[in-house]
Amino acid sequence: MTTIHNYINGALVAPASAQYLDVYNPALGQVYAEAPDSDARDVQQAVEAAQSAFPAWSKMPAEERSQLLLKIAAGIEANFDKLALAESIDNGKTLKLAKAMDIPRAASNFFFYATAIMHHASESHYMEEGAINYTLRRPIGVVGCISPWNLPLYLFTWKIAPALAAGNCVVAKPSEITPMTAYLLSEICIEAGLPPGVLNIVHGLGSKVGQAITEHSGIPAISFTGGTSTGEQIAKVAAPKFKKLSLELGGKNPAIIFADCDYEKTLKTVVRSSFLNQGQICLCGSRIFVERPLYEQFKTDFVAAIKNLTVGDPLDDDTTVGAVVSEAHLHKVLSYIELAKEEGGRILTGGNRVRLEGNCANGWFIEPTLIDGLGYDCRTNQEEIFGPVASIMPFDTEEEVLLYANSTQYGLASSLWTENLSRTHRVAEELKTGIVWVNCWLLRDLRTPFGGMKNSGVGREGGWEAFRFFTEAKNVCIEYQQKS
Ligand code: NAD
Repeated sequence: MTTIHNYINGALVAPASAQYLDVYNPALGQVYAEAPDSDARDVQQAVEAAQSAFPAWSKMPAEERSQLLLKIAAGIEANFDKLALAESIDNGKTLKLAKAMDIPRAASNFFFYATAIMHHASESHYMEEGAINYTLRRPIGVVGCISPWNLPLYLFTWKIAPALAAGNCVVAKPSEITPMTAYLLSEICIEAGLPPGVLNIVHGLGSKVGQAITEHSGIPAISFTGGTSTGEQIAKVAAPKFKKLSLELGGKNPAIIFADCDYEKTLKTVVRSSFLNQGQICLCGSRIFVERPLYEQFKTDFVAAIKNLTVGDPLDDDTTVGAVVSEAHLHKVLSYIELAKEEGGRILTGGNRVRLEGNCANGWFIEPTLIDGLGYDCRTNQEEIFGPVASIMPFDTEEEVLLYANSTQYGLASSLWTENLSRTHRVAEELKTGIVWVNCWLLRDLRTPFGGMKNSGVGREGGWEAFRFFTEAKNVCIEYQQKS
């Protein structure tokens, strides 16, 4: 049984409460570690440590800060196998996926922002009247970063790396459901020589640690990724305190498939975009709209491709669908499958819990599930399920599919499948989502703005957007005398 510690002021420490939370291995359905059940007292210590570290960290030349962050990136790479295994055990995702995506992208986050600060230039605005303005962008101070369980280290570092690179000190909270790789990251930071207090990781529940971070008057900015209702809670607490907020929230993403698409590529990628990580990626396409002339053929081939997926032990190389993250989440997803049936949906494939033999007999597995026969506006097609469940529907015209696609409260990402250039631009412009992937999915360039419209979030992460969020802009206006 591993005991996870908080990382405060450069040291690995126990929580003030001396209490711990169970951490489960979802593939086994068993407790395998314990994580601090921290509270406001631990957050207070973390804030004090971060405040003491801030003057030196924020004034450190960018090159030195960059070197330290590069060492963390190198530390992630040096611990690649250990981190990937930990992520798989902690989350239920396949080891193959942790190796292909989560851990490499976590290292990339540090590489990207460590090098970006070496190229940062701030704006300057010249005035003919004889004045010059320049924008001074300085770090905010102590910032809070709160992340979810679905891509644990990947999304944790996606916030921490730009916050630190911009010169802030951080109080961070990973999900209590998947705390392991954040803990391993604290060991990597110590090894890399990150000065004490620059990054503090406080483990525990959202209602205690997350709430304390959001409420703390010493934390003027919060970057949060998680569910929409949690985002609403955070906004309610943070807004009266006028905190800067970046909210990356839920999604119910459409995949829009026109009859002129590159069929094989579309089929292959839409299987991936529906079921990768058991459908537990905020960017997964769970509403699949297919132009009517292609509908029956696509549906048949899609069902066949889904049946070829292998639900199994996440550590096995052949497994394509691992465990869902928790028992509560398993029941939530299964309840949505029941709801789909009540709403008149037909289960084309899947629909059940999977009971594996051997080691994983008590694990939390669900068959990848495809449903048809539902209207675009029923609950199954409007609410975020966040599991291996997708719904397929036909459409006849562009106007109709845009109505369907834009009908939910969410607006995170969409994917569009067509070889028609004019249609691509037309539909991409009309989709109310922060990201539109055309003939691809999950292709990420870290320089681009990342985030959602409507109830999928407020603000954007990525590239300079993250730097803008993690800095305060000050305009310095200098008037000089014109020679007469
Ligand atoms: P969640 O909202 O339950 O938890 C996210 C984090 O917030 C956790 O660390 C949790 O402990 C903390 N938290 C909970 N209550 C809090 C409170 N009152 N104050 C402060 N912090 C609190 O989300 P989850 O179940 O971990 O993750 C799944 C959700 O995240 C899905 O809705 C998914 O779409 C969303 N998500 C969005 C993105 C994106 O980039 N938009 C990426 C990944 C996941």
